[in-house]
Amino acid sequence: MPDKQSTEIPTKTSHYITLEETYGAKNYLPLDVVLSRGEGIWVWDVEGNRYMDMLSAYSALNQGHCHPRIVQSLVDQSKKLALTSRAFRHDQLGLFYKEICGLLDSDMVLPMNSGAEAIETAIKAVRKWGYTKKGIPEDRAEILVCQNNFHGRTVTIVGFSTEHQYKDGFGPFAPGFKAIPYGDPDALQKSITHFTAGFLVEPIQGEGGVIIPPQGYLKRVRGICDDLRIALILDEIQTGLGRTGRMLAQDWEGIKADVTVVGKALSGGMYPISAVLAKKSFLDVFKPGDHGSTFGGNPLACAVARTALKVLVEEKMLENAHDAGTYFINKLKEIKSPFIKEVRGKGLMIGVELHPEAGGARRFCEMLMKRGILCKETHEHVIRFAPPLIIKKDEIDRALERINTVLV
Ligand SMILES: *Cc1c(COP(=O)(O)O)cnc(C)c1O
Repeated sequence: MPDKQSTEIPTKTSHYITLEETYGAKNYLPLDVVLSRGEGIWVWDVEGNRYMDMLSAYSALNQGHCHPRIVQSLVDQSKKLALTSRAFRHDQLGLFYKEICGLLDSDMVLPMNSGAEAIETAIKAVRKWGYTKKGIPEDRAEILVCQNNFHGRTVTIVGFSTEHQYKDGFGPFAPGFKAIPYGDPDALQKSITHFTAGFLVEPIQGEGGVIIPPQGYLKRVRGICDDLRIALILDEIQTGLGRTGRMLAQDWEGIKADVTVVGKALSGGMYPISAVLAKKSFLDVFKPGDHGSTFGGNPLACAVARTALKVLVEEKMLENAHDAGTYFINKLKEIKSPFIKEVRGKGLMIGVELHPEAGGARRFCEMLMKRGILCKETHEHVIRFAPPLIIKKDEIDRALERINTVLV
């Protein structure tokens, strides 16, 4: 720790930071706030200061911090049965399957833990579908992805990232992926060959800077994939489960992906669980032994996810994401700031892009932190606002006051 910083940061906070910096790998550059408690949209640091969480753990906390009903199901299930591995069956699995398939209108589901694992699973499913059902020659299947994508951090996934830092020093990478421009259906059409099995895309690019494709994009993509028999894989890990004001972002265009991947808010931030949801013909390619995960679909995860899904629906969080999001976006657009280039968003997935002359979004996030608002820059020039979906208008007003003071 440089001396200058340790005098600025309160002792208790700096103690925890020193521990992290001494022993931990530096693969993150967090804001210097050490949190120890959360409730709803609020978190408290070790000094007792309260902050409004405007990041929601990258949308894993759609239901808010420590939602009492989700906490209760974690506690209850952890006392009954936490893990069986999939060598044996358990009573939460089938119930979770039925409920999530009903809610997300899917034939079949395959549960995993992290988002990246679920994306890997979707890639395996679509490749196998390509070989066994489409007749693609062995080991030649290709999956199209988008430039500026973010699908996770495994070696396979970073291998098809177009972000230099994500892959630098981590090669060699798996072949079989090709990146095309985002939001451009003609580019998709032109890139499809006999070897193309699928197209993997985010309905809105979150890590890429909250990039919203032109209206009708997903509908055109759906049409192209239908015509040419390509599997459409939508990564809804960030956009799904209410974030944009609908259950899935694809619902806005009235389409259904062949394979939909969810994660993050599936447990309301309580426990790692992700899932691949698909039409039967894409998930029935797996035979016993083809794929698995020790913790995937464990009783604790399933029980927590069942409650997290119920809470989203019963507490009308989708509706609130839509209403509060529209309000927030409109108010942000009214801010007259020399720094703001564009405000964009859908529901409570919001990006404020700054002009390059503003000197990067990070310093604004630091200023907001000092004023009790936690958010995180994405892609250098974008401030992302993604509060829990339970946020109320007066709380948004409170945040707007602070956002105004740092941006004007
Ligand atoms: C967060 C995220 C992932 C990766 O999820 P992890 O749980 O961090 O592995 C994949 N895709 C999108 C769109 C994401 O936002």
